[in-house]
Amino acid sequence: MFNLILFGPPGSGKGTQSANIVRSYKLEHISTGDLLREEVSQQTPLGVEAKKYMDQGLLVPDEVVIGMISSKIDERHGARGFIFDGFPRTAAQAEALDKLVEFKNTEITLMLSLEVPEADLIKRLVGRGISSGRSDDNEEVITKRIKEYHSKTTPVAAHYNAQGKLEHIKGDSSIEQTFKLLAKHIDKYLLPE
Ligand code: AMP
Repeated sequence: MFNLILFGPPGSGKGTQSANIVRSYKLEHISTGDLLREEVSQQTPLGVEAKKYMDQGLLVPDEVVIGMISSKIDERHGARGFIFDGFPRTAAQAEALDKLVEFKNTEITLMLSLEVPEADLIKRLVGRGISSGRSDDNEEVITKRIKEYHSKTTPVAAHYNAQGKLEHIKGDSSIEQTFKLLAKHIDKYLLPE
């Protein structure tokens, strides 16, 4: 199996590039942000709890997210591999993910980290808020999400760097150009289908 973590701050293009990667390499996409928004829209107990954090730009507690991801991996049994988007976002989530995949007799293959200057991130997210209406894409919440990223999520890169799995990707050029850079790394492990 080929299991990829697509890493980077809010607005770095993880969602857009995940769609490109899924199309070319036929991996199963797991986005915790998408899964949480789905729970919120269905007003499940998990969604009602998660919304309190999401609206403030704070991370949802680890135990909520880890439980949710575990069942999603099980549901997609037989996959060629997974692309994790927006997960893991804390050191505890990274440790939990390593254990989960080990339990399934596989491992995280690679972490690709999208690097985008902060001014560009804010510009992109404000633009997305206007076009998509995502309620956490307003300037006040965006600033808090980026702050959470620096304090809680950055250590996750060090976790996979210590395992020799981290690669940095320049993420501030066009969507096509960034995808080419990502694909160069993925092609070392897996060819497009
Ligand atoms: P995203 O779509 O990945 O930007 O996520 C939107 C919001 O969902 C974040 O600001 C968090 O509140 C929550 N969220 C998504 N993924 C996670 C995660 N792995 N851990 C904690 N909270 C998360």
